[in-house]
Amino acid sequence: MKRIFNLVISTLILIMNMSLRGVLGLCRSSLLITGDCFVGKTKNPPRKDMLRVVVISTLILATFFLTACGSVPKRSGGALRVLASTTFLADITQNIAGDRVKVDSLLPFGADPHSYQAAPVDVVKISKSDLLILNGLEYESFIKSLLDAQRAGSERMIIEATSGISPRKDAGSEQGADPHMWLDPNLVVTYVENIRDGLIKVDAKGAGTYKANADAYIAQLKSLDAWIVEQVNIIPPGRRLLVTNHEALGYFAERYGFEVTGSVIPSFSSNAAPSAREMARLIDAIKKINAPIIFLDVADNNTLAQQIGDETNVRIIDDLHLESLTSGPPASTYIDMMKYNVTRIVEALK
Ligand SMILES: [Zn+2]
Repeated sequence: MKRIFNLVISTLILIMNMSLRGVLGLCRSSLLITGDCFVGKTKNPPRKDMLRVVVISTLILATFFLTACGSVPKRSGGALRVLASTTFLADITQNIAGDRVKVDSLLPFGADPHSYQAAPVDVVKISKSDLLILNGLEYESFIKSLLDAQRAGSERMIIEATSGISPRKDAGSEQGADPHMWLDPNLVVTYVENIRDGLIKVDAKGAGTYKANADAYIAQLKSLDAWIVEQVNIIPPGRRLLVTNHEALGYFAERYGFEVTGSVIPSFSSNAAPSAREMARLIDAIKKINAPIIFLDVADNNTLAQQIGDETNVRIIDDLHLESLTSGPPASTYIDMMKYNVTRIVEALK
């Protein structure tokens, strides 16, 4: 009883903390409202932010009472439960786990982790997991408050798939590190190694399976990389120019010899907004370099890109899948997602 009381008190403190930060606008990377503050800009009015924080906090508290009262069965020596933050990480992890473990994704197909709004069911899903796979580098800006809302004694191993990779950073910018490492399959090799090691830590008996599956998947990633190099060679070198909605394709561009001319939203997160000066600067850059296409993720709002396209006579491709898999074709696996995106980019620029 004392433990439940303590848990309730700590949750109330968490909610008060979140609400106060919402009022004061003191955003930190660890809070639900972080995305709006990522580049020091506020996308939504403070009142809307405040409302969102209060609603989500209330939902989390409701879920917390639900779990504390025992409505959700506690795991007791059953099958290993592995949860990945998002769909492409779940697919990569499933390839390593094979038939031994069923891997779930916290976010549904099509959800953009940059702007994801957590729901009470997410607290329950995390509370039931033994191993949680994250991308890391603040890609999952929604996750800390969900982890804080867990029951005491509900512990799990957390693996950041990007651990050990040196991130890109924008010189002279207030931004943190670029989290979009999965868009270079060579970096996903490190994801696989980190995830394999995490699985072995929670299930040592499966080590042989995880190692063999990881090796087989790394071979597939190397083939994918070779295929992308071949495809990109179809594009004349002078046309290997990328304009994106936000700065998602930096690692991809570095690996495959593209120049990123600019981004509609000059941020590593889609959950930000450009200033008029930044828009004007991008229009100038597109005209100067003669960039032919602006590439958007299917989940992106294309209003600003359309405005820039109208002013520069540049075409918009708005059906890439950069942040999520699709439930069926064309991007139902990580490898299919990469092949689809590369095919769209090559068709547009060749
Ligand atoms: Zn992104």
